[in-house]
Amino acid sequence: MSSPWDQPAPEKACVQRPNAAGLSRQDMAALMQRLGEPGFRATQLFEGLYRHRWQRWGDFTNLPKALRERLESEVELRWPDLAESIPSSDGSTKHAFRLDDGRLVEGVHMPYDDRATLCLSSQVGCAMGCTFCATGTMGILRNLTAAEIVGQVMALLVAHEHPFGKPVNLVFMGMGEPLHNLDHVMEAFRILTDAKGLAIPSRRITVSTSGLVSGIEKLGREAQRPRLAVSLNGTTDEERSRLMPVNRVWNLEALRRALQGFPLEKGERITLEYVLIQGHTDRPDDARRLAAYAKGFPSKINLIPYNPSEGAGFTPALESAIDAFCRLLVNERLDVSVRRSRGQDVAGACGQLVRKRENKESQRSFVSRIGGADVES
Ligand code: SF4
Repeated sequence: MSSPWDQPAPEKACVQRPNAAGLSRQDMAALMQRLGEPGFRATQLFEGLYRHRWQRWGDFTNLPKALRERLESEVELRWPDLAESIPSSDGSTKHAFRLDDGRLVEGVHMPYDDRATLCLSSQVGCAMGCTFCATGTMGILRNLTAAEIVGQVMALLVAHEHPFGKPVNLVFMGMGEPLHNLDHVMEAFRILTDAKGLAIPSRRITVSTSGLVSGIEKLGREAQRPRLAVSLNGTTDEERSRLMPVNRVWNLEALRRALQGFPLEKGERITLEYVLIQGHTDRPDDARRLAAYAKGFPSKINLIPYNPSEGAGFTPALESAIDAFCRLLVNERLDVSVRRSRGQDVAGACGQLVRKRENKESQRSFVSRIGGADVES
């Protein structure tokens, strides 16, 4: 099926001097070949960059001095700049990354005792136009490259001094629809899971889709892939189409068929995310329909109390409605969690900081746009 969302998003502008930060091992091998170096240097470079997190060519003591000097003059080593970092009272920090073309995207660092969760962006803006999401109002500006996606991870790990070996979960729940930029997301996935580098287990990486069925099918054909989450947020086609225009192309039944056909590993489940919006998605009938839907395939449910986005015109569900909704699902023997958006005091929900920033900066320059991130604990 063809849809506007099947069209590729515009690519980024080219960068003049090659930047090694974010490259795959294959790309590093090509770089070393161009410099007349043996192939094993690529693995040394890869280890130095991702495992040791060396920040300057001079730190790469596993490379000969002459090569370090040549790299210094010919190749950049630069992660995306952290243009702004806003800590929240709950311990999470929202960061704005400035990309080479000046665009801004967001990532969120959420620390826990035994791990950290990083919320990542996959695009600048988003084509999906979900009406409850501030990013959806931006439209799609461009895809992030694999290097820019990896760059968010590295910049956050470095900024928060995350020790090597401590578990980290990556969730593509920030700005953009990751399955609309699947080629670059998968390229980044292969870099992030590479055993010579960060070696993040694939089960710790989750892409969250709005229900882009063509992307779900494509992801299902990958031999190694991240886990799948679906942002459902509606249990009738009428309501879901109102909140998420993608439902007009692939309705709930088409989405269900795609999820039933998605090849899961033993014990793997698809996460259904469900935002609770007062009067739209939080009624007992919604809970009953959600229960029936979730039983159609191996699933678990994350209920997310709506984090109000300025101007979207929606209201968070009441605590009593959240409790009742949750209890109804539990009574249906479903695996349910209630996920509070972290960082609400720093505009933690998807696309909120962009609008705050736009409002602030529009008084100065009309230039800056920052996307946002839904976050999970
Ligand atoms: S909720 Fe996600 S898919 Fe929908 S517009 Fe926002 S960023 Fe895009």
